[in-house]
Amino acid sequence: MARIVMKFGGTSMAGTERIRRVANLVRKQAAPKEDGTRDEVAVVVSAMAGETDRLVNFCREANALYDPAEYDVVVASGEQVTSGLLAITLQGLGCKARSWLGWQLPIRTVEAHAKARIEGVDGAALGASMAAGEIAVIPGFQGLAEDGRVTTLGRGGSDTSAVAVAAAIGADRCDIYTDVDGVYTTDPRIVARAHKLRAVTYEEMLELASVGAKVLQTRSVGLAMREGVRVQVLSSFVDDEAAPADSLPGTLIVSEEEMEQLVENGDMERQLVTGIAHDKNEAKVILTRVPDKPGAVAHIFAPLAAASINVDMIIQNVGRDKGETDVTFTVPQADLPRAQALLEDKRAEIGFNRLIADSKIAKISVVGVGMKSHAGVAATMFGALAERGINIQAISTSEIKVSVMIDEDETELAVRVLHTAYGLDAKEEAA
Ligand code: ASP
Ligand code: MG
Repeated sequence: MARIVMKFGGTSMAGTERIRRVANLVRKQAAPKEDGTRDEVAVVVSAMAGETDRLVNFCREANALYDPAEYDVVVASGEQVTSGLLAITLQGLGCKARSWLGWQLPIRTVEAHAKARIEGVDGAALGASMAAGEIAVIPGFQGLAEDGRVTTLGRGGSDTSAVAVAAAIGADRCDIYTDVDGVYTTDPRIVARAHKLRAVTYEEMLELASVGAKVLQTRSVGLAMREGVRVQVLSSFVDDEAAPADSLPGTLIVSEEEMEQLVENGDMERQLVTGIAHDKNEAKVILTRVPDKPGAVAHIFAPLAAASINVDMIIQNVGRDKGETDVTFTVPQADLPRAQALLEDKRAEIGFNRLIADSKIAKISVVGVGMKSHAGVAATMFGALAERGINIQAISTSEIKVSVMIDEDETELAVRVLHTAYGLDAKEEAA
């Protein structure tokens, strides 16, 4: 017997036909195995694709200055519908199933409406119901604040709900069914020879998710890492002949220790670089002729931090004469107008000369735990890009990642060149 959490996204839940396919997958997972044992199964669902957007728009139309607590009442309803429908469909297939709404479990969150964080999930009633052979269907995205009101977790939050439920019931695996069949070495639309990874570590997935390989909500990966939840990303669009989820057809997201085991058992090859991500959603800001003295940089970044604008890459150029320097950094493109306004506002305090903004940049990152113990990863990257005449405008690194900022027009070329340079190209082109 194993405890399995299955999570289905909005595309899989869009309409009764698709919900029936989901119900079939769930029924299979919960069916008795050859040895007579059966899995205990909990399912976490998203709202139907497009539904949350529709509900958000209603709120905006009703009142542009809507109350976030009431917004949560509205948008949490999308998942209530799909969880009930899936339970009904499962019952129609002869399975014992019931829904557990966020407030019924409850999934306790902080009171920050529309962007609540999960504090804990009460797994007791859930565990008992599952042990009694009932399939639990749980709406993702929803929670309960301490004051008894409904909250939601922020867009894409159902992934995090699934991981939190898995942690609460001590699940053996949290299967995230989605419209891709796993995590790839890079975006297969850019590199035909990208290949699916059998496993990645939490750290790698965090880096890949946060630098633009959008498979899972980043927060769900962080939670899985803290709680040690084994996650599998796999496709929900499979036919009856498809390999069962237990044979691990997708990509496993695991601890570094489990990854070591996989390598030792010969299930994984040891790689220096696991994947390459690109992100076109950043913008570059250059402030010229900032005074080169203590406190100058603090003056720039304090107001941005206060406005919750996330600064990523930062470079302070070598000093010019007269004790001045240029400072370059990146912010999310969506925050660029706000960042510009804030900095203009503080022009006198910061003492810069010009503000140059450029959103035509991209960040390319190579990620891999292998680089912790190997030198030369950055050198390979810079060399490969130079050979193609791609100019690097900024560099940042972490223990398992090297990122460069380049011209947005060169994104695809850079990704292809690097995929080849690190030996990631599949032997056969993907079908
Ligand atoms: N339905 C919510 C959204 O669209 C949560 C989710 O699907 O993850 O953001
Ligand atoms: Mg999603």
